[in-house]
Amino acid sequence: MARILSGMRPTGKLHLGHLFGAIQNWAKLQEEYESFFMVADWHALSTRYMHPETIKQDIFEVIADYISGGIDPEKCTFYLQSHVPEIAQLHLLVSMITPVSWVERSPTYKDQVSALGQDVATYGFMGYPILMTCDIICVKGNFVPVGQDQLPHLELAREIVRRFNRLYGDVFPEPQPKLTKYALVPGIDGRKMSKSYNNSIYLSDDPNVIWKKIKKTTTDPQKIYKGDPGHPDICPIFYYQKLFNTEEKCNCIDQNCKSGALGCAADKKELYEKMMVFLKPIQEKRKELEDNPQIVYDLLERGGEKARAIVKETLKEVKHVMKLD
Ligand code: SF4
Repeated sequence: MARILSGMRPTGKLHLGHLFGAIQNWAKLQEEYESFFMVADWHALSTRYMHPETIKQDIFEVIADYISGGIDPEKCTFYLQSHVPEIAQLHLLVSMITPVSWVERSPTYKDQVSALGQDVATYGFMGYPILMTCDIICVKGNFVPVGQDQLPHLELAREIVRRFNRLYGDVFPEPQPKLTKYALVPGIDGRKMSKSYNNSIYLSDDPNVIWKKIKKTTTDPQKIYKGDPGHPDICPIFYYQKLFNTEEKCNCIDQNCKSGALGCAADKKELYEKMMVFLKPIQEKRKELEDNPQIVYDLLERGGEKARAIVKETLKEVKHVMKLD
């Protein structure tokens, strides 16, 4: 079975954008591929090295949300990057063969240094694409789920693999992109849902908080009263309705909004009820993990051991071809 690898930084609690943009996708992939899903805590350090104190809690939050959102550690290998120290050794060895010019032209590096300032202009951050490559090749990943915008990052990983294989023989499969259309969920202010915009509905938000956020959500500014004809296509509430309802139901909302038969207050109330029905099992599972955090840590421990056994074999092979054994 082909292997697929994906990872995320521990950014803390996850929101609806993560659920519909990533978690649900991974949940599908774990049925079709030998899946490796990783929480990239070393990558987090590359930009948060000055404030590492919150990373541990963020790791817990991310994992609790992923598991309650549908990632099944029995169906995939789910692990923490730093639990597999062999990745760091591989990173060192692969760094030896990677030209500086390749990492310098990495789009993330330039963009982030200009966005985040000189604090991230470190050797570790510059080596980010090499570490990312090693995350993929350490398990000999065949596919990486990516959006169109992430293709250049994967291309760099493929270049590094080609160079390694040219120098030492065919050790690694060239990872292929598995192009995925990520749902871009709007936040309650209509911009992209993002923690940094403070416009997110989190999977673990209390029902009262969710209701307050839905009440605050922007709608069509031209629809002030119930009878006014609305434009659902520009309304975040309608976007959310599409996430939780059948096409038939959405067509009905669409028509009633446009005709004025449906008012925003009633639509929001209905959305809230639907959303809570959908989120209830996720929140219950999460509560179980919050009450017993050891479950999460045990799962990570087991996943780390499983991943480590595979990565150790890869490293052995790499050391052999590099004449280090
Ligand atoms: S009725 Fe619903 S879809 Fe139409 S503008 Fe109001 S909230 Fe948006």
